Amino acid sequence: MLKYLSANYILPISSMPIKDGIVAVDEEGVIQGIFDPTSFAPMDNGQVEKYKGVIIPGFINAHCHIELSHMKGIVAKGTGLPSFLSKVMTTRSASMKKIDEAMAKADREMYENGIVAVGDHANTDNSSKLKDDSKILYHTFVEVIGIEPDEADFKLKEAKSLIQEFRNGHVSITPHAPYSCSKVLFKKFKKVVPETNIISIHNQESEEENKLFRYKMGEFLDFYKSIGKNADTIKAQARNSIQSYLPYLPYPNKLLLVHNTYTSLKDFDFVERMGRDVTWCLCPKANLYIEGTLPKIQNFLNSGQRIVIGTDSLASNDTLSILDELKVLHAHFEDLDFLQTIQWATINGAIALNIQDEFGSLEVGKKPGVVLLQGMEHMRLTDDVKVKRLA
Ligand SMILES: [Zn+2]
Repeated sequence: MLKYLSANYILPISSMPIKDGIVAVDEEGVIQGIFDPTSFAPMDNGQVEKYKGVIIPGFINAHCHIELSHMKGIVAKGTGLPSFLSKVMTTRSASMKKIDEAMAKADREMYENGIVAVGDHANTDNSSKLKDDSKILYHTFVEVIGIEPDEADFKLKEAKSLIQEFRNGHVSITPHAPYSCSKVLFKKFKKVVPETNIISIHNQESEEENKLFRYKMGEFLDFYKSIGKNADTIKAQARNSIQSYLPYLPYPNKLLLVHNTYTSLKDFDFVERMGRDVTWCLCPKANLYIEGTLPKIQNFLNSGQRIVIGTDSLASNDTLSILDELKVLHAHFEDLDFLQTIQWATINGAIALNIQDEFGSLEVGKKPGVVLLQGMEHMRLTDDVKVKRLA
């Protein structure tokens, strides 16, 4: 028996909004039909369930670290990135019971918030069992970190062994961040990963990162000292971080660059000249939490960049909700068009994670999740909008 779901508007994402449209979904959640009210004829004797609001496909959370879920509320707000990292490193250990419970709660929270797929970073195999059992699809990005050149071989070997623990076929190895990987590690990484390995790297989350690469100055040097790492091999590059490390990333692999709070117009030009297929992931609530600022959205729009949305972890956020991230963006940038930002939160994320055959839009044959947004006013996203999962 099919379920017929109708609302004031259906946003298939891949095609124009349909006023009073109807979506037919089977018991497995696969879309069997999308109808205009004038041409609708039920394919069986199922009843139409009518809702007030806007029906959209499930959200894609392009960036999370579910294994840090037990750290909710532990790190103070507004410390800046280097201090935030130190705090996470020194306080992340906890009992497996506590970690498991927090991850299970986070997974449920994301499901209820209409999230159907997640790009999730991992340094451990703590989340592998949860991911096997979850109703959410996780693409796991196993992070490789190695500040000192000597560590590169060992760290890559460790990462290669860790990806075996994530068994759903959606897993890749990724450098954690420009400041946490040596040039040697980047070069070795480039040699060992196949073209299909999607990369998701934290990028320009703090101005300190650009300062480190430009001048070899700033808080990252103190950070290295505090964790006992030797920074002697790092050299000032006289250019922003992205312009220094991007040439070392393997080609033509898909690149997800995360945060981009301090990415400049010159950086966009550089990426374009390199001919890279880049998707920019924004995590606005985490940026406000850690750095107290947001990326310059207008620059991304003016230069036609492809954007996706992530929550980051509960170490730097109080919710795991793509709707909440969109609300923050719309509250800070009044000119944003919901019909555009909803693409960032759905189909663009699906494309970035290579799961667009199943997720990201309401289309016959896909199983994208069906989500209702209640309280929308003329396609405007206000604080009052709520999410309800329909399929
Ligand atoms: Zn992150």
